[in-house]
Amino acid sequence: MKVLVTGGAGYIGSHAVKRLLAAGHKVVVLDNLFRGHREAVPQGVPLEEIDLRNTDAVTNTLTHHAIDCVMHFAALAYVGESVQQPLNYYDNNTGGTVGLLTAMRRAGVRRIVFSSTCATYGEPEKMPITEETPQRPINPYGWSKLFVERILLDEAAADAKFSFAALRYFNVAGSAEDGSIGEDHAPETHLIPVLLNAALGKVPKVTIFGQDYPTPDGTCVRDYIHVQDLADAHAIVMDALAPGDRRFYNLGIGRGHSVREVIDAAKKVTGVDFKVETGPRRPGDPPMLYANADKVHRELGWKAKLTDIHHVTETAWRWFKNHPNGYQSP
Ligand code: UDP
Repeated sequence: MKVLVTGGAGYIGSHAVKRLLAAGHKVVVLDNLFRGHREAVPQGVPLEEIDLRNTDAVTNTLTHHAIDCVMHFAALAYVGESVQQPLNYYDNNTGGTVGLLTAMRRAGVRRIVFSSTCATYGEPEKMPITEETPQRPINPYGWSKLFVERILLDEAAADAKFSFAALRYFNVAGSAEDGSIGEDHAPETHLIPVLLNAALGKVPKVTIFGQDYPTPDGTCVRDYIHVQDLADAHAIVMDALAPGDRRFYNLGIGRGHSVREVIDAAKKVTGVDFKVETGPRRPGDPPMLYANADKVHRELGWKAKLTDIHHVTETAWRWFKNHPNGYQSP
């Protein structure tokens, strides 16, 4: 299949590109390179440096490359930033997707796999989170993605042959096992990269955001899914999409790890006893979030394989150690 990967120069998108190429698909990357990295796109893969809101240019790209399916990763994805700049998030994430869907309609492309998020669920009372858990986002980032889910349903209702899958990711972590690509965010706020930056001595200490949560060790619990498992899920879902399909799946490992457990894993994997302190809670952090991902297993046979937090951290460490300055490393 010929697949357009939006955001293919970013962290998750670049792992999807790698997976699609390995499966023999033809890939074109579309990225505005606002936070993506040209270096993350493999040689020989066309990189269209275009913003999704430029509908004419996106339409031309879809037509020119005779695209069969779109995998849509391109988005802004910092919760805190979304609270500070809501319009930017609605413009980029929701408006950008409207631009993309308009271009798809013009070009006659009717299949899309969309990166949604567990942030669309907000702070559910019951764990684990299933696809039936009510979606009540608590920040503009979550809303910007939930609006897209709604728009996809409406587009599918208007066009019987249009098909989509919205994949609700939990905490994506790790790097390609061969160390070729990885996570390179600025600013970097996610737990595992922060821990590895501390191990590298790039940050002086790590702060645990709250240790008085109603969890077994008092720190927050999250479901860390390896980026390669996530990429596998995308390929499987794409292959399964038939005209008229509307699919929603949670992608997680189905259990949680506390911040303290992840810190212990990072210290063990790196062999560095970096400094850890406890600070106040971070606003908006729910105590516990983990997925029930049985639906995608039941329907398509996908299940996370790389579920050992030590292994997940180890793959990330391989990348960080060899690329201390991300894609700008020599
Ligand atoms: N966290 C922390 N210190 C940090 C970064 C993160 O204690 O420097 C915690 C954060 O409060 C959350 C968990 O680690 O409970 C995962 O945070 P991350 O930002 O990686 O992902 P999120 O769950 O917010 O999407």
